[in-house]
Amino acid sequence: MTFRNISKEALAGSITLGFIFVAGYFFGKKKSSRMSISKSHCEGKDNPLLQYVLNHSMREHPALKELRLRTMEHSWNIMMVACEQSQFMANMAKLIGAKKALEIGVYTGYNTLSIALALPDDGVVVACDIREDYPNIGKPFWKEAGVEKKIDLRIQPALKTLDDLLAAGEAGTFDFAFIDADKVNYDNYFEKSLQLLRKGGIIAIDNVLWGGKVVNPSPDDADTVAIDKLNKKLHRDIRISLSMLTVGDGLTLAIKL
Ligand code: SAM
Ligand code: CA
Repeated sequence: MTFRNISKEALAGSITLGFIFVAGYFFGKKKSSRMSISKSHCEGKDNPLLQYVLNHSMREHPALKELRLRTMEHSWNIMMVACEQSQFMANMAKLIGAKKALEIGVYTGYNTLSIALALPDDGVVVACDIREDYPNIGKPFWKEAGVEKKIDLRIQPALKTLDDLLAAGEAGTFDFAFIDADKVNYDNYFEKSLQLLRKGGIIAIDNVLWGGKVVNPSPDDADTVAIDKLNKKLHRDIRISLSMLTVGDGLTLAIKL
């Protein structure tokens, strides 16, 4: 069929459909970018305001910077915590005089190192991961920073490590916890961390906005459903006071009452 053979109505219809498709594409893009929050080492690279924040607030220890750059070479670097969020959490830990911390989900250990640097010499971070290869990337940088003795790395399911700590009588002795491992276990991590925390201790929960998916969770998306369920539960939970922050991919701070 040649262009001349197409009726005017068919041509008008095709142009209209084409317009709707192009408009829908751009509207959809705009809508999705409104729903997600920038992370400094991901979409944030093209965000001048976030770059301003980084340029005017980051005080990264040299070993932390080196570990961040090393992590950026890794294929799963999207899993790394946003550095500005990590610095904020380290400041929170300092503010409450934290000595004992939990890192639930270590990856290359950027946040583990950041928290270890914030603790006093006799402080400890119990760092939980199921994989040894990821934390192995971070270990030389923990050593370089002189804090490796403060990091108690336990390679096994994090729930097992938390149960071990409870069985060892360490309930009520931790000051700070960062929950950042598998999302379907978030509620279990929260409940066990709450038992391990002292009153006034802080549980920081990462990815609570999950790229914006929590606004309209798909029932067959187990991760989003788990995060949304926990968000709703924490909002009503009288054992804590809380804030939900839009830093990184969303961060809830829960303070044990
Ligand atoms: N907090 C890290 C940081 O500062 O960059 C990022 C953690 S990454 C998002 C999640 C980590 O959780 C991965 O290293 C993964 O191996 C670990 N993980 C997944 N399931 C786990 C489980 N059941 N127990 C312990 N770690 C787990
Ligand atoms: Ca995370």
